Amino acid sequence: MAQSILAEQPADMVSPIDEVLSKREEPEWHKPVIGRYHASQLAYCLRRQYLDFVSPVTEYDSDGARKMWLGSVIHKVLENEILPFTEDSFTPIAVEKPVWYGLPNTRDGMIVGRFDVLLMDPSGELAIMDVKSREDLYYVDKEGPGEHDVRQLAMYQGATRIEKGYLWYVGRRKGDDLFYRQDLKKERFRWMVAQGSLLHQALKLKELPEMCPQYGWEPRYCKHRNRPECENCSLNGGGEQ
Ligand code: SF4
Repeated sequence: MAQSILAEQPADMVSPIDEVLSKREEPEWHKPVIGRYHASQLAYCLRRQYLDFVSPVTEYDSDGARKMWLGSVIHKVLENEILPFTEDSFTPIAVEKPVWYGLPNTRDGMIVGRFDVLLMDPSGELAIMDVKSREDLYYVDKEGPGEHDVRQLAMYQGATRIEKGYLWYVGRRKGDDLFYRQDLKKERFRWMVAQGSLLHQALKLKELPEMCPQYGWEPRYCKHRNRPECENCSLNGGGEQ
């Protein structure tokens, strides 16, 4: 019988990527702290964030972890290999700038975050840019920036009072990119602050907030969907949109 020339995967060898990423997923690695709410999360379903605080899913999700990792690799490559050399597109001033914003009517709650680039654009004005990586830019090109991205950027713009902004999408598959000018929309900023207040109140009172699966950009991947608290979510065929 002819021997197969295809090499076999060694059964005792685990993926080094999974090995390292799964260690980062251990609960203590990024344990959420009540009173500190991340701008990158607040635009999603509030119930999802509440569950992340009170009973996080700690099971390692290889697909999700790899997507996050690839996103962070792209950010690092842009930071080290592109931004230091730009001249005509814009002038970067700082990267990874931290932002915080105290929630109104409370002394123990704030929204925190970190935006990607503080820059001077070709007109000489200061602007905030947030970078988003996507597997493919087809839908971004067709439909424009996602509402959750616009809201997250609005949070940074409102907190820093820098009203000019850009969203920069980079495709993981082709390395293509798209830019959108996105100046501050104040109602989005107020909406984000209100989300922070609702989450803070829900955690203090230990009350489940409402379901809002429509806020996620990939809601079908919500890791809480099999929980009893989410039985009526539209992701499970329920009526809650
Ligand atoms: S399953 Fe639905 S309701 Fe539950 S956290 Fe996820 S998006 Fe929200």
